Amino acid sequence: MHEATIAQSILDLAASKLEQIGGYNIALKICVKIGQFRNVDNHSLDFAFESLKSMYAGFESCRLEAQSVKAEAWCREGNHRYNPCFENAFCCERCGSGIGKIICGEELEFVDLITEAGN
Ligand SMILES: [Zn+2]
Repeated sequence: MHEATIAQSILDLAASKLEQIGGYNIALKICVKIGQFRNVDNHSLDFAFESLKSMYAGFESCRLEAQSVKAEAWCREGNHRYNPCFENAFCCERCGSGIGKIICGEELEFVDLITEAGN
């Protein structure tokens, strides 16, 4: 399952960031940005995150906030900026050509880790 791998890499990265902070901090929230092209199902990602987080010290009460980034591309023929998606078969609505260059939608970006000093 692709979402479990992503959840695990998010937690691995967050765990090393928490370690850098040091002390007895606990993680409250992890914010990530995920592009539409990553084909991540947010519900599956959340489920994977919830089942994996207890394996990481300090992450027992942590939540994952995943922000979706809409895909955008320049089309191949007319250089139109459009949203390639399943509904339009990834083709430009104005001229019908396919993706020339992807502008955004491929991100899998770690944005922030919110922590709190533990006891
Ligand atoms: Zn076009």
